[in-house]
Amino acid sequence: MIGALELRELREEFPALNQKVHGLPLAYLDNAASSLTPRSVIAALVHFYEHDRANVHRGLHTLSMRATQRYEDARSKVAQWFGVTPETCIFTSGTTHAMNILANSFAMRGHDIVVSESEHHANIASWQVHNPNQSFHVIPFDEEKGYVFNTLDVPSESLLSIQSVANGTGAMLPFEKIYEYVSPRISILDMAQSVAHGPTDFYENKFTYGTLSAHKMYGPTGIGALLCQDENALNALRPLMGGGDMIDRVSFRETSFAKGVARLEAGTPAIANAIGFGAAVDFMKELDWAKLRAHENALLTYADEQLSLVPGLHIFGRSLKRQGVLSFVLEGTHTSDVATLLDRFGIAVRTGHHCAQPLMESLGVSGTLRASFAFYNSIEEVDRLKKALVKISKMLRA
Ligand code: PMP
Repeated sequence: MIGALELRELREEFPALNQKVHGLPLAYLDNAASSLTPRSVIAALVHFYEHDRANVHRGLHTLSMRATQRYEDARSKVAQWFGVTPETCIFTSGTTHAMNILANSFAMRGHDIVVSESEHHANIASWQVHNPNQSFHVIPFDEEKGYVFNTLDVPSESLLSIQSVANGTGAMLPFEKIYEYVSPRISILDMAQSVAHGPTDFYENKFTYGTLSAHKMYGPTGIGALLCQDENALNALRPLMGGGDMIDRVSFRETSFAKGVARLEAGTPAIANAIGFGAAVDFMKELDWAKLRAHENALLTYADEQLSLVPGLHIFGRSLKRQGVLSFVLEGTHTSDVATLLDRFGIAVRTGHHCAQPLMESLGVSGTLRASFAFYNSIEEVDRLKKALVKISKMLRA
């Protein structure tokens, strides 16, 4: 665990933590939806708007050149963090946008698409938007057994598109096992839920593409990335949008497209957000992730132990190793009532289907409560959550 002093210092980097909600100190346990932002990222955003505020690329004046330099520096930082080259790191507005570029590129190419039952809607609906007749080979999720493979029958020309961690349960996907059953030609890793927890090269480069959002790794909203394993993978992508910056030559007869990542980044990008994303990577680089992960795991284990003592509380996903997320229901109560009451105790959790309706259906619930942890959370916050749940349980079940 992190010592009290060190934790206090880490927490001081996050100004949003230093506030009261309904008169009580905020316990922010909604990190899987969006993590908070450290001072250095906020400072990078302010610096851009105060000093370098101009459009990128093609500008010959000082501010535009500075903005371009900072935008491209941010790309290099992000690429390096994830173990790809800047030439194969596309800035997107987030995971959803990245998934839609992929679906736009591959949904109509006749691949058999393999997904898990716990996928986020970004990895289901995006395929259906780009191919209304899309069918899936689904790796079922079973509460007792975890992911189940013996019913999976996948042809070799398949495309695997899976999350690293299920946002509905926190379950870590068993990649080794998946690769025993599927030998995909193309593989996509939705990294949205793992990026907050330290360095991830996208599973030792076995994946062809990786998708992620900066707001889940202490960066700004509205920015993320689509990582490509190599230039061939990049060149296989079709532009999702046409417009400025993504072209080579335009005429009314025909248009040729730019080479490289520019082809996938039409229009004025989220410049400040990209720079803030780079600052988030700088922030993460300075941290001791072995120690922070141990702290996060200890928090999750403690929360699991403590919450399971609350009468009528059922926790999901316990059959698998989990990361960052505790998903549960409280018998005889409605999840949104519980979440609203938790807010009155200053505790922020998420409730609902977590954009994973097929998973909820397989769990036999319409939604769950989800407490999700970052390294800046504390044992005291878990204790407060437990105490509040005991009180709420008594109130609602009386
Ligand atoms: N995939 C997973 C596993 C997620 O948890 C999320 C966000 N909840 C997304 C995709 C979508 O991310 P965004 O909304 O940032 O595009």
